[in-house]
Amino acid sequence: MNRSAAHPVCYLDHAATTPLRDCAAQEWWKHRAEGNPGGQYASGRRARAALEDARESVAELLGADPAEVVFTASGTEADNIAVRGLFEISPACRVVASPVEHPAVRKIVEDLAARDGAEVSWLPVERNGHVSAAAAEELLHPDVALFTCMYANNETGAVQPVGRLAAIAREAGVAFHVDAVQAVGHLPLNFHELGATTLAASAHKFGGPRGMGILLAQRSPAPHPVIMGGGQERGLRSGTVDVAGACATAAALREASESLESERARLRALRDTLARGISHSIDNVHIHTHEPALESHLSVCFPGAEGDSLLMLLDAAGIEAATGSACHAGVNRASDVLLAMGVNEADARGALRFTLGYTTTAADVERVLEVLPRIVAQARAAGMA
Ligand code: PLP
Repeated sequence: MNRSAAHPVCYLDHAATTPLRDCAAQEWWKHRAEGNPGGQYASGRRARAALEDARESVAELLGADPAEVVFTASGTEADNIAVRGLFEISPACRVVASPVEHPAVRKIVEDLAARDGAEVSWLPVERNGHVSAAAAEELLHPDVALFTCMYANNETGAVQPVGRLAAIAREAGVAFHVDAVQAVGHLPLNFHELGATTLAASAHKFGGPRGMGILLAQRSPAPHPVIMGGGQERGLRSGTVDVAGACATAAALREASESLESERARLRALRDTLARGISHSIDNVHIHTHEPALESHLSVCFPGAEGDSLLMLLDAAGIEAATGSACHAGVNRASDVLLAMGVNEADARGALRFTLGYTTTAADVERVLEVLPRIVAQARAAGMA
């Protein structure tokens, strides 16, 4: 994270979470005493007004109508409501999904197959991490209940052709969910222009609070509710809304959106310096971030090294990064995303993901380039487990 007393390190894991922006903290503090926005009295009306202001800001910034903005408790929750909820309103049972989805989507699709009789077609992924729009065109027919594809991948940063995919889905009359958790606040995005049925975002990925998500949902077709209760948020996400969290989310999104283009250029320069420096100073390196990609992401494999060892050695040197692979019961596995891209398992186990963000400086990149050659040599000497 940033160099506060709590995080005196070089933090390069912004795709996992990015530090809370000061404007978001201030907005949260301003609204910390708001009560239940459903209350039929003065303080309830005040909370409701603050919540509706936040909703309007989010709608304006993401090209949606306020009525289409649903506050949730995480990106994961937004994905769950959309994918399961859209499946449940359809008489069809086929689901088309990309195999590089985050578990927040992939696990629901697998659950629909295991418990609800969904038949799943996985879209092919090319070696560069992008899904094929031509393959989507072949797979999307009116007998498909739901198509889901992320905007940008959390490991490689690959930006998918979602505009084209949305058009194909529309022509086929298929509901389309976009997991835009890595993209919102980092790429220009307009919900109406995109034409997706639903879209998920997460506040802590753009400097808002953790535990706040956004679901954009067209009025029709709208997902069937998967969380039952008091009927808040159009009945799509029952539960008392965290008003201070929603206000902080809107403030963070505004700041991220205002600096979006300058940040993209700044991060691209830093990320490219990092990629070039790694390729020049270390032998046998495979970069798995290919354009079009998020400017913040760099996925790189060091064959012969174990990702876990690399992470531990980096951590000891005060650098925080990620492997991108799933850790099951303490056993590290190769990343499913890299495997889907055709990377062989041994190489994929030597993967690192560096993700840059608004607090990243040139000094962070220099620090990585200073220590990484030694660390990779050490990890390679230790060998594979
Ligand atoms: N989708 C993607 C692409 C993500 O990267 C993440 C988090 O890393 C999520 C969904 C889940 O978001 P949240 O942490 O808000 O539940």
